[in-house]
Amino acid sequence: MSSDSSLPLAMGFVGLGAMGKPMATNLAKALPAGAHLYVHDIVAAAVDELHALFPTIVVECGSAREVAQNADVVLTMLPEGAHVKSVYLNPSTGIMAALNQTSTKLLIDSSTIDTATNLHIRSQLATHSPGTSFYDAPVSGGVLGAERATVAFFAGASPSDPTLPRLTCLLQPMGSKTIPCGGASLGLAAKLSNNYLSGLITIATSEAMDMGMRAGIRADVLASVFKAGTAQNTICDVFNPVPGVCAAAPSSHGYVGGFRVQLMRKDIGLAVALARHVGARNVLGAAGLGVYAAASEAEDCRDRDSRVVYRYLGGKEHWEGKEVAAE
Ligand code: NAD
Repeated sequence: MSSDSSLPLAMGFVGLGAMGKPMATNLAKALPAGAHLYVHDIVAAAVDELHALFPTIVVECGSAREVAQNADVVLTMLPEGAHVKSVYLNPSTGIMAALNQTSTKLLIDSSTIDTATNLHIRSQLATHSPGTSFYDAPVSGGVLGAERATVAFFAGASPSDPTLPRLTCLLQPMGSKTIPCGGASLGLAAKLSNNYLSGLITIATSEAMDMGMRAGIRADVLASVFKAGTAQNTICDVFNPVPGVCAAAPSSHGYVGGFRVQLMRKDIGLAVALARHVGARNVLGAAGLGVYAAASEAEDCRDRDSRVVYRYLGGKEHWEGKEVAAE
């Protein structure tokens, strides 16, 4: 990846986990000569590793506040709302502690959290530092997408927002596209709606595969039927929950990698809460949440790819012709 002279000379990144580390790596690669990436994570090893990769670019910081003191643009990629709230609003270590009435920083949170926490942080920042901009821009595409810089960003911005071109340019080294979703916190609403749909399609695909296989149809034949029929969907075609149907899918590798089942439980829980908050009726949400919550606790499913719900539901992992199909 070549460096981009339109990127600022001082950027910051907080949260160098499964997603944040590869995203920060791609950002560091794209920064122009002489630029610095100020980073922080509560796990010191994560910061040390990134610094070792880019010793002249990455600057280790002891807090999110220190990151924001040095950087003009700060990205955050944290697990849950409580972490995001603390990183932004903690009075001694948080980003807001580095801002004042005249600050004009751009802050972007890419974590998948609830919209209420996002709006609360936004209003606190607006009061404390009116010139500072804060956007939600959660991502879809998983760890592989983060590594390959192909994630999609769902931005909490209107298409006519004057900051959108700058936002898109800043995110471009880490992702393939930025979609403006309409306004503050709507990037999160879009992300939660997406994961609600994808999580429930996974359960439906698992049940339908199991049913057809138990009736006597080979898994690969059944998948090709769904692909040709009205049931066609990406989970079935690319991430099929039945081992051996899609050679590259996590299910064919012991459900290792992919999108952790606990993260799907978190996102479906947030989506169900959002539905309640906006008055949307959903009949599948509670059942889906129950499945992901139970699978997250099951020893043979926990920490595995969310498509492991097929295993949780008792689906057959060995089927006649599996080896032939996998070749
Ligand atoms: P992760 O747990 O691997 O990483 C989170 C990082 O944040 C960790 O390194 C942790 O030490 C750090 N952290 C936690 N609290 C902190 C604090 N107070 N200050 C500084 N650092 C702190 O999580 P992840 O998989 O990278 O996911 C991050 C977010 O992205 C989540 O909201 C998740 O739902 C979302 N997401 C994940 C995926 C995926 O496939 N993993 C895909 C899309 C979206």
